[in-house]
Amino acid sequence: MALTGIQIFKLLPKTNCGECGVPTCLAFAMSLAAGKAELAACPYVSEEAKAQLTEASAPPIRMVTIGAGDRALKVGGETVMFRHEKRFESPPGFAIIISDTMDEAEVNARLERFKLRYERVGLTLRPDLIALKGDSGDVARFEALVNKVKQASQAGLILMSDNPDILKAGLAACSERKPLLYAATKENLEAVAGLAKSSSCPVAVKGSGLEEVAELTEKLTEAGVKDIVIDSGSRSLRQAFQDQIIIRSAALNKKFRLLGYPTICFPGEIAADPMKEAVIAAMFVAKYGGIIVLSDFQGESLFPLLVARMNIYTDPQRPLATTEGIYEIGGPGEGSPVLLTSNFSLTYFIVSGEIENSKVPSWLLVKDTEGLSVMTAWAAGKFVADTIAPFVKKCGIEDKIKHHKLVIPGYLAPESGGLEEELGGWEVLVGPREGAHIPAYLKTWQP
Ligand code: SF4
Repeated sequence: MALTGIQIFKLLPKTNCGECGVPTCLAFAMSLAAGKAELAACPYVSEEAKAQLTEASAPPIRMVTIGAGDRALKVGGETVMFRHEKRFESPPGFAIIISDTMDEAEVNARLERFKLRYERVGLTLRPDLIALKGDSGDVARFEALVNKVKQASQAGLILMSDNPDILKAGLAACSERKPLLYAATKENLEAVAGLAKSSSCPVAVKGSGLEEVAELTEKLTEAGVKDIVIDSGSRSLRQAFQDQIIIRSAALNKKFRLLGYPTICFPGEIAADPMKEAVIAAMFVAKYGGIIVLSDFQGESLFPLLVARMNIYTDPQRPLATTEGIYEIGGPGEGSPVLLTSNFSLTYFIVSGEIENSKVPSWLLVKDTEGLSVMTAWAAGKFVADTIAPFVKKCGIEDKIKHHKLVIPGYLAPESGGLEEELGGWEVLVGPREGAHIPAYLKTWQP
């Protein structure tokens, strides 16, 4: 049972030192109770109090890890209903289904499609999990599939069957990979809970409706299983959507621990058409899927889903930023143009893309503007002559060129005079305002 703010306050040192970032212990206690602060922010909590406060400071949706090593996926840990309140914490994992009734060619093709990945604003977007389905009912066949997939990929695994013997065989083949066991139901709960507990693997519960799910999670926790994922069992679009909202709201607003777990969704069991499935998957990305299992992967639907996930799970308070430095585009030389831009990722990718389009090899200086765009950084005083000049002098570009000409973004035109003064010996040229005009501008470049 979660503690109230006042109960938490009684366990704090009450010195009001302010080191936790808020002025009083009472304010900190209230933030902790609301899930808006981390207990670790107070360095003075006693060990005894820590033990009591752990539950109160735990996120209302438990963080669950699927898999092990570099490819482990963390889902859950959410603390808000809406992204703008703080941020969404754990991007949902996308899984592809491979069944033990598929022939070898299909299994291989799906393993290939699982390797789909895309580069976007400096990030690699790719799917996360492989869901292995024991449709055949044949223990040996399922075990063989698990072994094959385990050899072929380091990805996290989901073992899917309602037969505990099949789950047991799959688990024996890959327990060190900490797969998610799907699913414990009211018919098999005891046996599946035993498997999860003995292997320390997470387990999904599947009920027919949220009341049954809550009964199952209660039984699992009583059996000592803590890492749980929820499938409400709904396979109509409306009900599945509603369940997601109720689960999140019950955990966050009502502090109802029995639904305080990440969810697993199967859009392919709601719609047979692949495009409809992708649209439903996008809905689960926004509202509030923890793991989204797709019946198959196709580039034309997987890519937009990965981009939607990236956008929704970006911290709204921290813009995506590129590392400050000198970027070489097209193999520039001593006479190549030198352009300057901010480190807002979108700006960087637009500018570098247009330089590439121009086919004019160039040096691009990316200045740290704390992820702000050119105009915003300039307005905030972070991208002005006083800050740009020291960066240009220190970045090392002078060792790479023979001229001293710097092209600044058109929006920085008011800084050109001051920048020439600060740089001393450089000619500052005002480039285009819009990235789309860079290729035409560079074609006129004279060192
Ligand atoms: S750091 Fe701890 S002791 Fe200091 S004000 Fe915050 S809660 Fe109180």
